Amino acid sequence: MSTIETAPAASGLVDVRARLRRACQDVGRVEDAVKLICVSKGFGHQDILPIIEAGERAFGENRVQEAVEKWPNLSSSYPDIELHLIGPLQSNKADAAVALFDVIQTLDRPKIAMAVSAAMRKTGRKPKCFVQVNTGEELQKSGVFPRDLSRFLQICRDEANLDISGLMCIPPVDQLASPHFALLNELAREFQLRELSMGMSADFELAVQMGATLVRVGSAIFGERRQYLSPMKI
Ligand SMILES: *Cc1c(COP(=O)(O)O)cnc(C)c1O
Repeated sequence: MSTIETAPAASGLVDVRARLRRACQDVGRVEDAVKLICVSKGFGHQDILPIIEAGERAFGENRVQEAVEKWPNLSSSYPDIELHLIGPLQSNKADAAVALFDVIQTLDRPKIAMAVSAAMRKTGRKPKCFVQVNTGEELQKSGVFPRDLSRFLQICRDEANLDISGLMCIPPVDQLASPHFALLNELAREFQLRELSMGMSADFELAVQMGATLVRVGSAIFGERRQYLSPMKI
């Protein structure tokens, strides 16, 4: 008898895909115009595999260490998987992040931009880069304040030699998301950046209405988050 547990059905994903399709239809956008990033932080192989097998290829992780422990193994059989770093990056993790991730969404200060740039030279890899904007100007949250964005983009381009593809934001939890999505959209237009990463489980339809090109959805796909247990600690 096999002792392998039955993989959970990807029912959350089916629902999210339907919601995304409807949201795109409602505003006359094609579904392909919005990339679904499945946020798998906290989940291990047995939860992630059914989502990969259901056809999803873009995944988001918020901690470099956790991603390094679980993804190389998972993605070796699926070379077209695209990994997004959506959590804060420390400069001492820049090499590991550049080696693993295909998109780094959370550049937010010169030191990190320089570290990512150096890691790209060292590894020969060139992940796409986004700048995280702290649209709510929350002191405890990462991200560049809107008024500092122009200067930071200049540093990324001129000093770190990085191409910035887009902007990302996480609105304050206690506020309506729409003004934050609108602000991010406005900033992307002002600086002629194509990609907009905004919207999570609770509000991705709204983000789609307001121009998101990537939505980051975790709990609506995977269910309630757990503490990720490193296989090395089990
Ligand atoms: C966890 C996380 C998400 C997903 O949140 P859900 O509410 O579970 O969809 C999206 N973006 C970032 C930056 C996150 O850390």
